Amino acid sequence: MTCFSTRAARAGINADPVHGAVVAPVSLSAAYRRDDPAVPGPFDYARTAHPGRDMLARALADLDGAAGAVVTGSGMAAIDLVLNDLPNGARIVCAHDCYGGARRLFDARARQRGFDLVYADCTDLDALARALEPGAALAFFETPSNPRLRVTDLKAATALAREAGALSAVDNTVLSPALQRPLEHGADITLASITKLINGHSDMVGGVVCVRDGELAERLAWWANAAGTGGAAFDAFLALRGLRTLPVRARVQSETAGVLARRLAAHKAVARVDYPGLTGHPGHEIAARQQDGFGPLLSFELHAGTDAARALARGLTFFTLAQSLGGVESLVSIPALMTHAAMSPQARAEAGVGDGLVRLSAGLEDVEDLWTDLDAALAAL
Ligand code: PLP
Repeated sequence: MTCFSTRAARAGINADPVHGAVVAPVSLSAAYRRDDPAVPGPFDYARTAHPGRDMLARALADLDGAAGAVVTGSGMAAIDLVLNDLPNGARIVCAHDCYGGARRLFDARARQRGFDLVYADCTDLDALARALEPGAALAFFETPSNPRLRVTDLKAATALAREAGALSAVDNTVLSPALQRPLEHGADITLASITKLINGHSDMVGGVVCVRDGELAERLAWWANAAGTGGAAFDAFLALRGLRTLPVRARVQSETAGVLARRLAAHKAVARVDYPGLTGHPGHEIAARQQDGFGPLLSFELHAGTDAARALARGLTFFTLAQSLGGVESLVSIPALMTHAAMSPQARAEAGVGDGLVRLSAGLEDVEDLWTDLDAALAAL
């Protein structure tokens, strides 16, 4: 099969049959003309399908090795789309340290639809096996997790889910298919926020669900049309443009994050660094086995505690204080106050998200400029 980077670079190229444009034009039309009222053309109404979204979905399904993919208006819409296909009362086992917004959605849907929702430490296979009772419908993993970068052994975890009769879904937002393809490790569904590494330029919001089984992919496409959760045309164009450089960005941003993680780990002001690329990280060996790189995200805690962490986040020049990740610009955030603020203090404590945790997303700036910035901010504390 052609290499991943070739497939990413060629995604949607030469796909314009009308003008022969190398890059396919954006079709912004909401409706598509019919010649016969009883016979729709290849496109009919843009909520159901439009050329740009289809092209992006085909490219992402191809890169993840999926039978089909549905592109949604956000990463959260992608997670909700998977829940749409479950019956009320279904048992769901969810990683206890998943993204705070995902946990807020799981809690709300469980209250509304009577899901038997259990949070488990999915990096602990015994705990996962205990949570997965026979008849469970869905196991939802996030690896590496945001923000603690904890690593779940996908092969082992998806095998346990299968034994219990549950589908496995993996939130692959932190790495993207350039660095990890969960379907290759036994997952049934892989999903991601396109907003992050896949698009990589922080100028659109989107999500994708990639599915191993064609029938499930069709059911999810049915739900996306029925509920109107599909992504918009211009966002699909931007995401496809971002996707073409994904392998290069993912590689360089991972290298930069690795250098910053190693230097932070050796710094006297730093109490702990979470980065799966560090040999001392508890998930390092699993990550090295199932990932093609360690990703742009890392977290750390300072000896000096919470106030110092907030001062550090405000004192950086080349890391913008903002809550996203995976873009070409480096970002810093305090998850307890930002991305994970929707979780209760108890849920944050269970997930290991302390008030003084600092999260960095490494971008494409020069690594020495980034380190000089961090080092100076640490010295100023
Ligand atoms: N999953 C993870 C791991 C995330 O970090 C995020 C957003 O930060 C999402 C899902 C939700 O994505 P979106 O913001 O595109 O809805």
